[in-house]
Amino acid sequence: MISESSLTCESLLNQAAARIKGDSPRLDAELLLSYVTGLGRTSFRAWPERQVLEDQAQQFFELVAERVSGQPIAYLLGQQEFWSLPLIVSASTLIPRPDTECLVEAALSLELPEHALVLDLGTGTGAIALALASEHPNWQIWASDRITDAVELARGNSTALGLPITVVQSHWFDQLPEAQFDLLISNPPYIAASDHHLGEGDVRFEPSSALVAGYDGLDDIRLLVSQGQNWLNQGGWLLLEHGYDQGEAVRHLFAQTGWHKIETRKDYGGNERMTLARKPISDESARKAHAQ
Ligand code: GLN
Repeated sequence: MISESSLTCESLLNQAAARIKGDSPRLDAELLLSYVTGLGRTSFRAWPERQVLEDQAQQFFELVAERVSGQPIAYLLGQQEFWSLPLIVSASTLIPRPDTECLVEAALSLELPEHALVLDLGTGTGAIALALASEHPNWQIWASDRITDAVELARGNSTALGLPITVVQSHWFDQLPEAQFDLLISNPPYIAASDHHLGEGDVRFEPSSALVAGYDGLDDIRLLVSQGQNWLNQGGWLLLEHGYDQGEAVRHLFAQTGWHKIETRKDYGGNERMTLARKPISDESARKAHAQ
């Protein structure tokens, strides 16, 4: 039995925030209480003495206990915002990160055809594909994932947001229909199997299929760089997210396999976070374009 006075929003939030570790205990507590009660977070400040129902308090403390054990807040809420889009998330795939919004920005900075054909490889929740769809309704956007649950999740998010994309189940390029894209974009797994970060924070609860790529973290990036040109129009782009310390290695991979315009860009924290490159335009088509 929880005492009456401890059922105010303020008291519940204080008790929870004292237990939750991490960067944002108060925010986490507010998000969980808002989720359980349906009350907006601002109401906790405007009306701290408001009482919640006893079973809501119980449910709240169950969630707080899971958060204390390290469960990511996004999995507990079943939702994460990305590019201002509320995305449904699940433990079958990665929680979209703010840094990946920089990848979306980079894609939007490219000169692409009005009706560009775009593919987001390893889409997970569909985050990148849906962000691009929200900006460019004229683009034809495809997304792929190897994991059945992720394919369903991305399709569910597409429907819920009313942003049409075509989601196919495929391990990278394996099951893709013949197509020549203008842009291939991906946030692939890029963590080295031995990286100690895998034992810390949210990633402990995320599937290794979305995180880990071989001994140096570059297995999937190597595949995307070596096969990407087969799926691109001449002059098409491949844009990849990678680890903060992988920029040089990824530029080298691109250079080794004959890509042009190789460029690394930074994330909000100033780390080298993504590299893009262009499929060369053959002399023949460059001559034709010039002659026109
Ligand atoms: N950026 C994520 C992290 O380090 C990893 C994402 C990924 O492997 N694609 O937590």
